[in-house]
Amino acid sequence: MIDKIKHLQNKCDFCGTCVAVCPHDAIELAEASLQILFNRCTLCANCIHVCPTRALEMTDENSL
Ligand code: SF4
Ligand code: SF4
Repeated sequence: MIDKIKHLQNKCDFCGTCVAVCPHDAIELAEASLQILFNRCTLCANCIHVCPTRALEMTDENSL
């Protein structure tokens, strides 16, 4: 069972706040798309806590 960060595209306003707090440069933000780089992410959850629109959540990969 592996947890990972899930990004809800329809809730995101692409403000970049999560990018700024990620200690591992694991979030890539382009104009209207956001990618989590799972090989860098340590599941610290910083990004989840700062997202103003709750567009990020921790999820169990097996339940996707
Ligand atoms: S902080 Fe939330 S709303 Fe802002 S870019 Fe990140 S996921 Fe999107
Ligand atoms: S959980 Fe932490 S390491 Fe992973 S994308 Fe969010 S801020 Fe970056």
